[in-house]
Amino acid sequence: MSEWCQNKKCPEKKNQNQIRGSKGAKYYQSNKSSGYYKYWCSMGCREQWWQEHTDTCMNAVGFIDKQVLSLDDAWFVEYQYNWNSDTQEHNPLYYIRNKNRSVKQLITREQAQSPEDIARDYEYRTIDDTQARELAITLGLAS
Ligand SMILES: [Zn+2]
Repeated sequence: MSEWCQNKKCPEKKNQNQIRGSKGAKYYQSNKSSGYYKYWCSMGCREQWWQEHTDTCMNAVGFIDKQVLSLDDAWFVEYQYNWNSDTQEHNPLYYIRNKNRSVKQLITREQAQSPEDIARDYEYRTIDDTQARELAITLGLAS
């Protein structure tokens, strides 16, 4: 790991905040990497790095063939923002869904979310599709 932006052209952005050095010997330096972009300082630097290293990355990760998902297995959990204009409150709704089977069944928040997401009150987050399929089996909707 390095604390510096991994785009070697980062100093070429020539931003005021990148200037260092003493009078007569001033230079632009890389930015530090940001928490959000991890190895880069910005989306622009990440994109520039990616343009240069795409093939290296793909060869390292490996190529995969076409992926398919059977419509019958395509379960997911849907979050719906639900505003009640009478009480001026919202109560989120969660559904387990399978479009191929025309299933849209109301489920509880405890079924729709992980305990961690409930604890953090990330109400829009839902369990992933693999977990949704497991829930569908538990609920007797799939086998
Ligand atoms: Zn940068």
